[in-house]
Amino acid sequence: MPTASSQLRLSNISPLIIQSEIRAMSVECDRVGGINLAQGICDTDLPSSVADAAIKAIQQGYNIYTRLDGIQVLRQAIAAKLNQYNGISADPDSEILVTAGATGALYAAGLALLNPGDEVIVFEPFYGYHLNTLLSLRVQPVAVPLTAPDWQLDLDRLRDAITPRTRAVIVNTPSNPSGKIFILEELQAIADLAIQHDLFVFTDEIYEYFLFDGARHISLATLPGMAERTITISGLSKTFSITGWRIGYLAASRQWIPSIGYFHDLTYVCSPAPLQHGAVAGLVELPQSFYDELSTEYQQKRDQLCSALTDAGLTPSIPAGAYYVLADASRIEGETAHKKARNLLAASGVAAVAGSAFFTPGRGENMLRFCFGKKPDALDRACAAIRSL
Ligand code: PMP
Repeated sequence: MPTASSQLRLSNISPLIIQSEIRAMSVECDRVGGINLAQGICDTDLPSSVADAAIKAIQQGYNIYTRLDGIQVLRQAIAAKLNQYNGISADPDSEILVTAGATGALYAAGLALLNPGDEVIVFEPFYGYHLNTLLSLRVQPVAVPLTAPDWQLDLDRLRDAITPRTRAVIVNTPSNPSGKIFILEELQAIADLAIQHDLFVFTDEIYEYFLFDGARHISLATLPGMAERTITISGLSKTFSITGWRIGYLAASRQWIPSIGYFHDLTYVCSPAPLQHGAVAGLVELPQSFYDELSTEYQQKRDQLCSALTDAGLTPSIPAGAYYVLADASRIEGETAHKKARNLLAASGVAAVAGSAFFTPGRGENMLRFCFGKKPDALDRACAAIRSL
């Protein structure tokens, strides 16, 4: 046992980074053999062209490190996609970095562009990894609450949160966990403040193809004056159902890419080589109808889950995009959302995440987050179990 005077101890930030409640619920769910609507693991099948190209790449010997910013054909395919879908013009040789998921992209960008003690604004409800990534960089997250039930941006609150130490804002659209899609006016207001206060904006656009009721995805980097200060982050985990592959990317001004790339190299070296080839096949070969069907399919899943939640008295806040729904869990027993999630699992066999995982302490205690990125059979069973509560 180390003595009281021992130097063997956790770093100062370690106790601040608690184990993800999402992972904890997944473990709990496995233990009882439940249906996991907790983790956004999207267990739907990947497109076969993506799988085939990755297998072929392994067999053809693409198993060694790639260039630190990713293979050229993938950067070119990403540049074409950014141009066509997002309206972002990025040079594949100097303005795109292939990363170990969107997660690796944010971490590397934070290492390159932020200093300990800086403040970064996140909108609440937030994605826990955004908050914890900032904490692990010794950066202070500042939460600006969005207004329920449709999570509108309160511009005064955003303005009030900006201090001389603010260096950046993180925008996640479509958002996990709320499903909010930032509309043009909101993005313009954020852009105006970013320019006025000389801030970076990190966007997380990983759910850019999961849009419901005809909603449109807008990339903040396309607004006037924002190209230089916006780090656009996305990836293929969700679009191609390949969360375990670790293929993401970021697009940014060539001023920032070398340093972000260097930090990404230090932590990840490169994104998995053969899987980068699989990603190219998806980006180059899949027709527009593939992307249209994503929205149609997930909108049906959203409607199916939201209707079961409504019938069970767990009123959902209807998401505009992504594949999560926050529901009012007042009727489930338990003083905290943590207890409610466990009670729901015991009563129905369905795992959800405590709403408190997405809010600052003391908030979100009456909410649970459910994921509908599931195969039809699992979703059917989960909906039946929720209805029978
Ligand atoms: N951003 C958001 C908002 C997410 O919900 C997730 C997955 N839960 C990620 C990033 C992770 O993306 P990746 O697999 O590309 O790291």
